[in-house]
Amino acid sequence: MPPAYVGRFAPSPTGPLHFGSLVAAVGSYLEARRRGGRWLLRIEDVDRPRAVPGGEQTILGQLEALGFEWDGEVWHQSARDEHYAAALDRLRQGGRSFDCGCTRREIADSTPAPDGAPRYPGTCRDGLPPGRRARTVRLKTETGVCICFDDRVQGRICEDVGAEVGDFVLKRADGLFAYQLAVVVDDAASGVTDVVRGADLIDSTCRQIWLQRCLGLPTPGYLHLPVAIDGHGNKLSKQTRARGIDPARSAAALLAALQFLGQRVSSEIVGAPPATIWRWAIDQWRPAAIPSRRAIAVGAEFSEETT
Ligand code: GLU
Repeated sequence: MPPAYVGRFAPSPTGPLHFGSLVAAVGSYLEARRRGGRWLLRIEDVDRPRAVPGGEQTILGQLEALGFEWDGEVWHQSARDEHYAAALDRLRQGGRSFDCGCTRREIADSTPAPDGAPRYPGTCRDGLPPGRRARTVRLKTETGVCICFDDRVQGRICEDVGAEVGDFVLKRADGLFAYQLAVVVDDAASGVTDVVRGADLIDSTCRQIWLQRCLGLPTPGYLHLPVAIDGHGNKLSKQTRARGIDPARSAAALLAALQFLGQRVSSEIVGAPPATIWRWAIDQWRPAAIPSRRAIAVGAEFSEETT
């Protein structure tokens, strides 16, 4: 029997939930509840400098006002360094990772990958050059190995991680563990079977699958939702001054998120409180109706702060 469905929502506490993060929360929640599964909440604060004071409390308050009910304790990446270190040790012992002394500048000056981003040229993979000290830890990739997965909304995605990205960072020069490592270790440790998140992360997925294979961890199913972009084509984020969801307008925001995800919102739930909307939405959820697009523009009511 396949394992029971376990989904998750993994916000970074870099600011209040905005419409883009709400869409990821709604999609992952409905998919988990509709499948009779669990829905876990993980605060992705591995990147300490990016976390804003009070950010987590704001997000939890918004999720409560929106009527989300998560299962079990909230996880925090900032409390899980020993697990990331253990995974890194395993990789090192298996000869899968290496210390790298290159600076960002040196890599930027090297051969670009097909998408124009700098690709790691492999300088330190067989040992640090004399006189160099370790700055980061990287995972070895293999050129010519195509990693593929069937995304439930975006279709089949393949990437030759070795050729397109190259050996990537697992531990950063500032001593912090990288998002790629933390997400893979945490999803496996919490038994996540299905990842539902924004399509802005689709380009990280093949890297994460490669890392799962190197660590002998299972690969979850993937469903990448379209991301909300503003009128300038930028993903809603703190940097683009996306508005936080106002807890007093939770019901309206939920209806807008359902519509964004291609669900036909019935007049019977317009004006209803979140609990009623959720009962209806869990019953009516149709993942097949989610537009298979990477991005969809939203109006100024969600994209720009006016104050
Ligand atoms: N923490 C990431 C974000 O807020 C999500 C990571 C994931 O879902 O894998 O965008």
